[in-house]
Amino acid sequence: MNLVLLGPPGGGKGTQAKRLQDKYGIIQLSTGDMLRAAVASGSEIGRKAKAVMDAGQLVSDDIVIGIIDERLDQPDTGRGVIFDGFPRTVAQAEALDAMLIRKGKRLDSVIEIRVPDAPIVERITGRYTCGTCGAGYHDKFQKPAVEGKCDACGGTDFIRRADDNAETVNKRLAAYHAQTAPLLPYYETHGILRIVDGMQDIGKVTKDLEIILDGAAVK
Ligand code: ADP
Ligand code: AMP
Repeated sequence: MNLVLLGPPGGGKGTQAKRLQDKYGIIQLSTGDMLRAAVASGSEIGRKAKAVMDAGQLVSDDIVIGIIDERLDQPDTGRGVIFDGFPRTVAQAEALDAMLIRKGKRLDSVIEIRVPDAPIVERITGRYTCGTCGAGYHDKFQKPAVEGKCDACGGTDFIRRADDNAETVNKRLAAYHAQTAPLLPYYETHGILRIVDGMQDIGKVTKDLEIILDGAAVK
């Protein structure tokens, strides 16, 4: 099963993708994570992407399409993937459609995790992750059971993203509305768009996603 999670930055895509991976045996492909890894490694792609990401703008379609095209050829994607943060433009969505056909795969479901702009600044500025295993947390909404200790791996080092600051949030939201929101009518026309209320608590959002995916799986 191949699934796209759509929604604004800080909307809960990564949080939900991590929770769905194990249940459905499919893996999260986050272009944001891949680009941050490229920046950290100092590769040519990373050097090109860094300033754009820091400014809260979108990296060029060619770069992200190339990353996803290559990644989908890895055997661990065979049972399916959750696209998290990709596609983000209509050109990327068209490239994904063509790429999946070429690779003999298909998109089973596109789900918008709908969250209005107002809570996004608080969601993003409170976000942090475990530096050891990548588990996601929030200062207020998703704290570890024991303060300072990762629930998943016991790690004690946590990281905050360079672009998770109040100044870039508005630019990222503007990019979402201008460049990514047009994907909603694009996928609606294709008849595969579903919507989940992303303002519910994290567990309830997961339940709603599972209801949709369990329906998609039996089709
Ligand atoms: P995205 O991947 O869409 O950018 P994240 O999944 O990283 O968003 O979520 C952003 C922040 O908001 C994280 O710190 C996460 O813990 C928190 N969060 C995610 N979903 C919810 C929710 N339903 N309610 C409150 N906080 C949430
Ligand atoms: P994310 O981790 O999804 O919030 O993405 C972080 C940043 O990476 C974005 O603000 C963009 O600069 C860049 N990025 C991630 N995915 C894409 C994409 N599909 N297209 C263009 N830029 C992207």
